[in-house]
Amino acid sequence: MSFQAPKGTFDWLPPTSEQVLAVREALVAPVRRAGYGYIETPVFEDTQLFARGVGESTDIVSKEMYTFPDKAGRSLTLRPENTASVLRAVLQHGLHNGRLPVKLWYSGSQFRYERAQKGRYRHFWQVGAEALGAEDPALDAELVVLGVQGFAALGLTRVRLLLNSLGDRACRPAYRAALQEFLRGLDLDADTRARIEINPLRVLDDKRPEVQAQLTGAPLVVDHLCAACKAYHEEVRSLLTASGVAFEDDPRLVRGLDYYTRTTFEFVHDGLGSQSAVGGGGRYDGLSEMLGGPPLPSVGWALGVDRTYLAMEAEGLLAGDTAARLQVYGVALGDDARRRMFLLVDELRRAGVNTDMAFGGKGLKGAMKGAGRSGARFALILGERDLAAQAVQLKDLTTAEQTEVPLAQVVDVLKGKVQ
Ligand code: AMP
Repeated sequence: MSFQAPKGTFDWLPPTSEQVLAVREALVAPVRRAGYGYIETPVFEDTQLFARGVGESTDIVSKEMYTFPDKAGRSLTLRPENTASVLRAVLQHGLHNGRLPVKLWYSGSQFRYERAQKGRYRHFWQVGAEALGAEDPALDAELVVLGVQGFAALGLTRVRLLLNSLGDRACRPAYRAALQEFLRGLDLDADTRARIEINPLRVLDDKRPEVQAQLTGAPLVVDHLCAACKAYHEEVRSLLTASGVAFEDDPRLVRGLDYYTRTTFEFVHDGLGSQSAVGGGGRYDGLSEMLGGPPLPSVGWALGVDRTYLAMEAEGLLAGDTAARLQVYGVALGDDARRRMFLLVDELRRAGVNTDMAFGGKGLKGAMKGAGRSGARFALILGERDLAAQAVQLKDLTTAEQTEVPLAQVVDVLKGKVQ
């Protein structure tokens, strides 16, 4: 019997897995420089956290959650996103009682029961940043700028930034009503008609051409923003412009999660086909109250690591090998020599030299083949006779040149050669 990874999931294997680590690191480096602290939350939470925090009317909650009872009958859900968990942790530990905004970043697996296809998986990885407890257009702009810098650090040049404002509690209800009135006049299927009543903004996000064709004249939220939202949005836009960040106003940009207010944005890449979003985020001023907390206006983003990797592939940026390359490979012949080599390899590693050795009792020929394949520049060959002489053969695999080095000096000699 042989097992396969579950549908919609896959394994990252060396050497590409090293690239994915590098992607994660590069995407979060800018927020770490900006004072965001690392947070790790459980992979599963109380189902109600997501039902309330992400929104009952969303596809995520209504169709895509991995929900299960634990042995005590609690309903738990594998996190489909991380913002609700971060906010839960902030409220639980009272982080919001200290200096505001609370700035946090995370990196972790997310789970959604999606229709699996390239770029859309059931298990995927996001890095994210959240700034909680401040209503300030500069904070929205900061996060956008830091996201842009993360993609740029990877060498990506085809990431576009789409920007919109969704209004707030003051102006959204009137817009919602105007949109509902417009949508009720269209020729739509029953599911979509039901959505008009629950979350009409999401109908704007419908990707089907027959729906999009009917939406041309739909009222746009930009035309319904209250004065405060308009001023806020203008400030975000002018800060981005002043920072030299290019963006496109997208008056139809709404996001799949219910909790967004005011600033919303998405990073898209044109080389990815239909799953073009490499990241997205926005302001979620009402979420804390939805979870039973105090008012805590906040803004954040989540960037898709797997899709960013695909974007890099599309731009031909994956050529470099980022693995910690082996520098030295040990080959020992005979039991005593193997024991000594084991210690020598350990000593080299402690001295900062990337070292591996032949395992599995191979003969000299097989072990030297392993040395060649390992990518290491140097092989250390230790036979019983060398051991008796307290020496080791150091072979430069690029030139095949071989010298004898006293065992007591070999760590220093190699340190000098590999630096
Ligand atoms: P969201 O939490 O839906 O706003 O997603 C933020 C980012 O996570 C998206 O822009 C994608 O890059 C990534 N993402 C979301 N869903 C998936 C998925 N099913 N598979 C791979 N990446 C995803």
